[in-house]
Amino acid sequence: MTLWSAELLTGQPRSVGLLRHFVDGAFVESVARFAKVSPVTGEQIFDVCEADEGTVDAAVGAARAALKGPWGRMSEQERAAVLRRVADGLEQRFEELVAAEVGDTGKSVAQARTLDIPRGAANFRTFADFASTLPTESYTTVLPDGRRAVNYAVRKPVGVVAIVVPWNLPLLLLTWKVAPALACGNTVVVKPSEETPASATVLAEVMAEAGVPNGVFNLVHGFGPSSAGEYLTKHPGVDAITFTGESATGTAIAKVAADRVKAVSFELGGKNAGLIFADADLDAAVEGSVRSVFTNGGQVCLCTERLYVERPIFEQFASRLAARAGELTYGWPADEATMNMPLISKQHRDKVLSYYDLARHEGADVLTGGGVPTFGDARDGGCYVQPTVVTGLGADARTNREEIFGPICHIAPFDTEEEAHALANSSDYGLAATVWTRDVGRAHRAGAALDVGLCWVNTWFLRDLRTPFGGVKLSGVGREGGRHSVDFYTETTNVCVELS
Ligand code: NAD
Repeated sequence: MTLWSAELLTGQPRSVGLLRHFVDGAFVESVARFAKVSPVTGEQIFDVCEADEGTVDAAVGAARAALKGPWGRMSEQERAAVLRRVADGLEQRFEELVAAEVGDTGKSVAQARTLDIPRGAANFRTFADFASTLPTESYTTVLPDGRRAVNYAVRKPVGVVAIVVPWNLPLLLLTWKVAPALACGNTVVVKPSEETPASATVLAEVMAEAGVPNGVFNLVHGFGPSSAGEYLTKHPGVDAITFTGESATGTAIAKVAADRVKAVSFELGGKNAGLIFADADLDAAVEGSVRSVFTNGGQVCLCTERLYVERPIFEQFASRLAARAGELTYGWPADEATMNMPLISKQHRDKVLSYYDLARHEGADVLTGGGVPTFGDARDGGCYVQPTVVTGLGADARTNREEIFGPICHIAPFDTEEEAHALANSSDYGLAATVWTRDVGRAHRAGAALDVGLCWVNTWFLRDLRTPFGGVKLSGVGREGGRHSVDFYTETTNVCVELS
């Protein structure tokens, strides 16, 4: 039995494996350990090594040394070929990655097989293609005295990139950053969430099997403050930090990065709005909102937590969405028909349940959910909550202002397009919005009016990896995706040659 066996899919007790760091091409242990438990049953599934400052220092040192090694001397095309082998490796170990991801998160195998793991391989293929076909920028200058010069920009790797990611879509979000960073010639030290150490560990095995040179990809496990995350982001040998996680954590990392003026890219929290106009295809809007509110247990930064519905269809939409939320099936993760999943941890479940209580305390009407399901089996030791739909609160209610990151939404009516835009924008966050309408002009007006990084029309979570991804306000700094990733993961030197 490997560490990534199908037993993980069942969430049942199993022998506890040890997850180690990966530094300079080798797996290494450290003395401190922490327990990773299954969110499905609460049983421990892994012992995980926790990196101390020395381990992080060794990982950053290996990454810096590797910049000058074979990796730094490869052509873009040679690096792209290595990254395609990584994608092949992820596909060859597909079911092990599914087991690792499902074991850590409790998400359904159906989602892991169709979204999380395929996207990991797609990230490597996309950025292998993208980074090896970039045009060079060049300008000819003519001065008033007749002198002429040619300018061209040389792209170079930034150097050692620290990659710190959360637990909700572990492999997808990690590879979204590792793939472009490596394609651009950087070396990386990655710190996955303490809640999801497994798929990153499989990725380290795949890197070694694919022939990625030692020190190019390094992995350290641990927590954030006073642990691997903080040691890594404050390390003077790190040139750039790319982070996905909570806005408050982004603030903490920004303060550390400011001391050495490190480049940062932050993909942070959201409190996303969905606007449903009376002219929308109602069936599509209801089903699309079921997806946008409840996918991954509501634990996607892009999930909709605020729905605004044009008044003539408000009652009908709200009762249909609540009915569909109540129909979402519970099951073991290995069951392909399972729709609900547990929250990631007891701590996060307590936070989400505190918002269920807060919504009631603020005067919300609970249309469905609001509690904890019972199973009569080992899942009662897990972290499940009920999908929940509430109405009746104003835009200023904390339920409508703060990111909950669970399977809950609030629905409110609106009367005009201007009011809908104002309600959607009445948030400290600005990550994504979804608009449901058959009116083409209205769809385009929303894209211009909404203060968000991503505006979907009649769909949700449909991504082209070449497009800009990121948020405004508390939702982030910068954009990644396609050439935006290349801009972040490279520095440019402009060369100006006078032509005499
Ligand atoms: P988190 O901020 O608690 O942790 C994210 C990562 O940062 C973890 O690896 C953690 O160990 C590390 N960390 C925590 N404190 C740190 C510190 N002081 N220094 C360095 N590292 C530190 O977030 P989470 O709870 O893991 O994830 C959920 C959050 O992520 C939500 O707010 C969600 O909206 C956000 N998210 C955003 C996007 C996006 O693309 N915008 C995508 C997914 C998730």
